[in-house]
Amino acid sequence: MVRPTHAFVDLERLISNYHVIRRHLSSSRAVTPPRIISVIKANAYGHGAVEIARALEARDGSFGQSILACADIEEGVQLRQAGIRAPVLVFGALSVSDLEGLFQYDLTPTVSSPAAALRLRLAARSRGRRLRVHVKVDTGMNRFGFRHDNIQQTLPEIIRDEQLLIDGVYTHFATADNMNHPLFDHQYARFEIVRSVVRKLGLKDTFFHAANSAALLRDQRTWYDAVRPGLLLYGVVPPPLKSLLPVKPVLSLRSRVVAVKGMRAGESTGYGASFVASRPMRVAVIPAGYADGLDLRLAGKASVLVREQRSLILAVSMDSAVIDVSRVEVSPGDPVVLVGEQGREKIDARELASLIGTVPHEILCRTGIRIARVYEPASF
Ligand SMILES: *Cc1c(COP(=O)(O)O)cnc(C)c1O
Repeated sequence: MVRPTHAFVDLERLISNYHVIRRHLSSSRAVTPPRIISVIKANAYGHGAVEIARALEARDGSFGQSILACADIEEGVQLRQAGIRAPVLVFGALSVSDLEGLFQYDLTPTVSSPAAALRLRLAARSRGRRLRVHVKVDTGMNRFGFRHDNIQQTLPEIIRDEQLLIDGVYTHFATADNMNHPLFDHQYARFEIVRSVVRKLGLKDTFFHAANSAALLRDQRTWYDAVRPGLLLYGVVPPPLKSLLPVKPVLSLRSRVVAVKGMRAGESTGYGASFVASRPMRVAVIPAGYADGLDLRLAGKASVLVREQRSLILAVSMDSAVIDVSRVEVSPGDPVVLVGEQGREKIDARELASLIGTVPHEILCRTGIRIARVYEPASF
């Protein structure tokens, strides 16, 4: 039997979102609008990295523009082994990775520390190769990257390096989704200084990039030569930002009712008898639980859609959840939407994220591995 809970991935919507973003970027004042680096790390936020990459590559063929980004070398290798040919930028730290994949599969690494530069140099030299790299500058996130206030000292060594060729220089915003946080403007100002230092150091055709989805939406100044949307590509506007861009969620999570039963007043459902009925109720069981990415804390807060109406989730366990269907006529087999649209109702990753105090990225990424992804159209 096929488990009745599926993640539907609408690749037409993905492509449409991509073009919506492209059109938006063409409003840039620059002569050539910025390129899009499609962020497909973490299995493309749960959507399936290979399928997402294939769709982007196929549909963007006429532009030859596709650039993909993933979190580590292993993710990049997986794309190449599936036949993806677009340039792949690897964001993550390289210090604990096996570097062979970079050379064998033609991936572009990020250099974020002098130690990483040294390891890459040695790896490139021993193979008699020159390696194109992007340099990451830390402008205030305090995670990966060369310190912004020190690159005058650290960058020249990489520029002089015979083995490494700097193609790009980038940074990453920590608070782009918070219009009130001052760090965003500080990071922007620091990156502007970084750009002038880089130019003064003699780097000519360097490709600068900084914007994640939130920065892309809120501030044209951060577009530079390329932008790096993840969430927006998957059709979700990073909260609390609002956007008029007509992007649509690519992923929907659908299941079916597997059982319906009555509960008397005073009876409970769920582990720990967590929910107690205060009146006679009818409940339904759906075969999706926290192992599938349905957060335990959604119980009592989130709803699912059945018969085009919202039904509150009463309890979540590992493999299943119990919902309140006292006011709807449901039977086993009825379709249930956990994320997506049904009739005029809609539940999206933003809503679920806000209910449990997280970001939509986490909701999407947690779509469980035992959930089959169904792609529409099936092949690209
Ligand atoms: C994940 C990531 C992005 C994309 O972020 P979104 O908020 O999903 O748009 C961009 N740049 C870097 C370096 C990232 O790690």
